[in-house]
Order: sequence, then C-alpha cells, then structure tokens
Amino acid sequence: MRTQSIAGSTAPELVFTRLSRSGDAPHQVFVDRVSLRPVRCTCLAGRRDTVCWAALQVALDDLLPIARQYWAEAKGIAEIEQAAAVYGQVLRRRTAAARVLAERAEHDAKACPQLDRDAPIPYVVTNQGRAALHTSQKADGQC
Ligand SMILES: [Zn+2]
Repeated sequence: MRTQSIAGSTAPELVFTRLSRSGDAPHQVFVDRVSLRPVRCTCLAGRRDTVCWAALQVALDDLLPIARQYWAEAKGIAEIEQAAAVYGQVLRRRTAAARVLAERAEHDAKACPQLDRDAPIPYVVTNQGRAALHTSQKADGQC
C-alpha cells in the first residue's frame, strides 16, 4: 500500500528532546505531524542525514500513543483510513527502531564491555547474558 499521500505535509512538526549522552547539546528530533515520521535531528549525526539513537528512541517510545490518539479522534472513513495507515507505519518503524537500537547496543557491548550504557533497550540479551546461558546449558548437558 502506498502511503506517500500522507507523508511530507506542511503542518508544523512535533519536536522531541533527548539529552545528549556525550555532553553535547540535546537532540531535538523533529517528527512530521501528519505521518508521524521522524524527519530530522539537530545533532551532528542528524545534520549529516544519519539516523541517530535519539530519533530511533523517539520512534520507539513516543509515537505509538500519538498514532493511537489520531485513530481515536478520527471521524469518517477517510480519516479512519488515514489514521490506520499512519498507525501501521508507526508500528513498522517502531519495530525497525527497536531492532536497530538492540543491534547498536550489542555492538557497543562488544566494542567496550565495561562501558555502562544507560540501557537504551530493556531486555536486550548481552554477550555476557548469552555466555551465561551457554554456560548453564552446558552445565545442564553434563548432568
Ligand atoms: Zn540526534
């Protein structure tokens, strides 16, 4: 299904702020108000058109409740269809964002296992966790 008709609106964007983890200025993630698609961030990565962790975190945490609100407030077939399309896209992007953040967290853990990241994704299985599981499975197998 094509959803380009709802992308790139001229409505004012929503802005979400995340504090920088490296002491720089806070990330300001701009989200298209109609499509709920993150469009840019003020951070260095964002200015280079690279999707930063803050934009992913916003896609993960903040946009689904808004999509639900659009759905609840929709009146008439056209609005309901548009709200359903937006909801589906937000869900798809949320899943993708969770996957990318988990991959990055795993990569960071490999690069520097001692570094205490403030857990961008809960419940991610770390290498240590995997090793512990592997060890306990081995132990079970030897019994
Ligand atoms: Zn950013």
